[in-house]
Amino acid sequence: MENRAVSMEKIVSLCKRRGFVFQSSEIYGGQNGAWDYGPLGIELKNNIAQAWRREMTQLHDSIVGLDASILMHPRVWEASGHVENFTDPLVDCKKCNARFRADQMDEEKLAKKECPECGGELTDTRKFNLMFKTHIGPTDDNSNTIFLRPETAQGIYVNYKNVVQSSRMKIPFGIAQIGKAFRNEIVTKNFIFRTCEFEQMEMQFFVKPGTDDEWFNYWREQRWAFYKKHGVRMDKLRWHQHGKDELAHYAKDAYDIEYEFPMGFKELEGVHNRTDFDLKRHTDYSGKDMQYIDQDNGNERYIPYIIETSAGLTRNVLMFICDAYEEQKIGDKGNADDWRTVLHFHPLIAPVTVAVLPLMKKDGLAELAKEIQAELREDFRTDYDQSGAIGKRYRRQDEAGTPFCITVDYDSKEDNSVTLRFRDSMEQIRIPRSEIAARIQSEIKNYTRT
Ligand code: ATP
Repeated sequence: MENRAVSMEKIVSLCKRRGFVFQSSEIYGGQNGAWDYGPLGIELKNNIAQAWRREMTQLHDSIVGLDASILMHPRVWEASGHVENFTDPLVDCKKCNARFRADQMDEEKLAKKECPECGGELTDTRKFNLMFKTHIGPTDDNSNTIFLRPETAQGIYVNYKNVVQSSRMKIPFGIAQIGKAFRNEIVTKNFIFRTCEFEQMEMQFFVKPGTDDEWFNYWREQRWAFYKKHGVRMDKLRWHQHGKDELAHYAKDAYDIEYEFPMGFKELEGVHNRTDFDLKRHTDYSGKDMQYIDQDNGNERYIPYIIETSAGLTRNVLMFICDAYEEQKIGDKGNADDWRTVLHFHPLIAPVTVAVLPLMKKDGLAELAKEIQAELREDFRTDYDQSGAIGKRYRRQDEAGTPFCITVDYDSKEDNSVTLRFRDSMEQIRIPRSEIAARIQSEIKNYTRT
């Protein structure tokens, strides 16, 4: 089937038009680096989060959840190295005041200190810390500075002993957490790809030193399989191993899963071997013993190594939308109806699973359709739409990524059958009303994108 190329402009426009993502504070001209999730967007984001949490906690018996606070003791960020090292190299243009990350600039222009936007003179490169600072309490002097967390991981490390003691976890085990993180990014661009406020899905897996390489490989495989399972086109993903100069201060080895966004291959998730760096530092800074005591092995004591899988939830939202997006040619009339925009979401993450559409509002069809929707509601995320021609309603559902539509017509009143329409193939079949739920369940289980 003929189709047109996807671009970031098209994605941004669809997201606004259909209520996935809105600009933050739009009526005031927008707030850089912040976005709001609309009715479809919040469903999609929640479904991705739920799929991740299910994968981590329900399908692995040694991983438990946590929800740590965003505000943490400032010493945490000294221990973690963020106060000292969580910086980007910044240059400003003295003429137009534009700001750039020196490591992302054209090297020649940087060497000549020439602004890429206006040709003006650039300042020297200086280190800029990405953590947002604020004050806690009624006075705003330096004694009560507090940071918005730039990653969720530290909330897990400082709670690791609490989890071991309260849940009797034995190494190897993991702690999974989804939550907001904040970074004062110098350049926010590409829509929700890089923002100042975002969400992360992080899992920290605690292992015995010496077994870390093995677990690192295991988690790389698991994370790759997650995207496959949720319908991502695997030729759009690739691995990128961090070179020596790229490795974070705490890492022994690190691989990114990169996705081919409209602007090229970019990081989606990182799998890192963080060694015992964080727990050792928290031992030093807090004075508390962070050793694990292996009661099954003669009370052997050691600081565990940590394998981290760190994915951006909001970046995943963008990835799933880009990956699902397609404009297909479906007619030859020479007008706009020749094309449809469709989002091929996996049914597990689609904001709406099934839409129920009465062919007509009258003659009891609307009532019957609502009755069917009420039956399906317990098991699926449903929508109901009775306005406009049926073809237009299918297009609306295609654009929202709804994988199944149930259409109720005059025959339905006679023989209790309905039409089941598939989003990807646009195929329509007739099935008894009593079989709708079971059929959709099995279609979800066996879904592959066509
Ligand atoms: P980048 O190189 O893109 O700045 P990073 O290597 O600093 O990212 P990590 O610290 O490893 O990223 O964060 C883990 C994940 O969190 C990333 O893979 C990404 O999905 C997400 N993430 C990081 N920074 C942002 C941001 N500013 N906006 C949205 N998502 C982000």
